[in-house]
Amino acid sequence: MNGSQVHVVGGGLAGCEAALQLARLGVPCTLHEMRPVRSTPAHRTAGLAEVVCSNSLKSTEPATASGLLKAELDLAGCRLLGAARGAAVPAGAALAVDRELFSAAVAALIAAEPLVTLVRDEVVDFADDPAARWIVATGPLTSPDLNAAIARRTGREGLHFFDAVAPSVSLESLDCDRLFRAARYDKGEADYWNAPLDREEYRAFCAALVAAERTEVHDFEKSLLFDGCQPVEEIADTGPETLAHGPLRPVGLRHPRTGERAHAVVQLRQENEAGTIFGLVGFQTRLKQGEQRRVFRMIPGLERAEFVRYGQLHRNLYLDAPRVLDARFALRDDARIRFAGQITGVEGYVESIASGLTTAWRLAAELRALDLPDWPDRTLLGALLDGFLRDGTSRRFSPMNANFGLLPVAPDVARGRRGRQQRKEILAERSLAALRAHLAEPATAALLAP
Ligand SMILES: Cc1cc2nc3c(=O)[nH]c(=O)nc-3n(C[C@H](O)[C@H](O)[C@H](O)COP(=O)(O)OP(=O)(O)OC[C@H]3O[C@@H](n4cnc5c(N)ncnc54)[C@H](O)[C@@H]3O)c2cc1C
Repeated sequence: MNGSQVHVVGGGLAGCEAALQLARLGVPCTLHEMRPVRSTPAHRTAGLAEVVCSNSLKSTEPATASGLLKAELDLAGCRLLGAARGAAVPAGAALAVDRELFSAAVAALIAAEPLVTLVRDEVVDFADDPAARWIVATGPLTSPDLNAAIARRTGREGLHFFDAVAPSVSLESLDCDRLFRAARYDKGEADYWNAPLDREEYRAFCAALVAAERTEVHDFEKSLLFDGCQPVEEIADTGPETLAHGPLRPVGLRHPRTGERAHAVVQLRQENEAGTIFGLVGFQTRLKQGEQRRVFRMIPGLERAEFVRYGQLHRNLYLDAPRVLDARFALRDDARIRFAGQITGVEGYVESIASGLTTAWRLAAELRALDLPDWPDRTLLGALLDGFLRDGTSRRFSPMNANFGLLPVAPDVARGRRGRQQRKEILAERSLAALRAHLAEPATAALLAP
């Protein structure tokens, strides 16, 4: 098979991982990225693997779902996680990256790969060539023409919902005398800046927040707001103390000078290697930009904050995977066209990388006539990609992050028999053991053999 026959569409997280995995498995491919020819409402650069919102790839602790997924991907030989570690900025127990360094590191990996040809163009449809294979990894902001081409093939419109993004501010514009550095429960280094609010400040802030002007969401879109990324003002709408028990919870954060616990605390997390930009943790928002300046500057220490990135609401597109995709993530009606990343219905940066790796492996196995088994169901890779994405139980399929709730629970680790932490540790150990065995199975070993 020559290089022009496998097309990876989208140079984001999933597409770059897929292209690098295909190359590792000896399959040449063309990687199509439409930026800078055409951009999306959220991307700001022409860089490959641009992380569009939070710079955090979440926890690295093995007994968390995100940490376990990373450990599984490391075993599988994931390429983008290595690039992320090389571009890491301090973030306690999380893996957070300097966006530009990460993107540059991924671009360097792609450039160094002779089997990957990078082309800057927008793919708007699929050629009729029966020998062509496509991995569509165009993400939640797939360009409208390609969206229409996919919808023509799936026989139904792609589903839409909306996500909200948190704003970032420059460190130099903050009044650091009013803030303190700490990590919750002193876990890891004191990497976060924290803005404590007393009861009156908190109440005044919440009152301004719920009254502030928001960008429009049409009626039919309102029910689609994603709970896991609910805008801060919408959380505040549900009650005056909800934020103080949610993203502004003060637990585990005592002021190092006074030892006191505030009524509420806003946390700011470092976003670039230089440590000059910080994001407001949990402040996804659809307030108008002027309102963001006015209301968020009520937070003590942020009175003169300079917003380097405003929060925003964005379109998020994904397929009804259980009904339109098969086990290879190929369209049921056209197996030449497969999918990877958020468009398949996984949610999150690391999940999208995992999906890119998996789709690439399955395509490479098929081209070599290898019968690759599913991921073990005890792994998060298996539970998410082979379990959740095929599960048509819910009539309204909607994306999901990796989480322990997806894993089958053996009776000896059932709830109540052990502490929560210990249960997660056991599940994590089992998952990694199952994955090691899977990687040693004949078809998988043959695929990965150099
Ligand atoms: C605004 C926003 C904020 C998000 N915030 C977070 C977050 O904080 N944390 C988190 O874990 N997840 C977040 N997500 C969800 C998700 O994890 C990311 O979108 C992730 O980048 C998905 O990876 P992907 O590779 O599937 O898509 P992307 O990384 O979006 O990559 C898709 C690529 O395809 C390109 N493309 C699109 N159409 C075409 C075409 N027709 N031809 C060629 N190229 C095309 C795009 O330019 C882009 O480079 C967010 C999503 C959005 C949209």
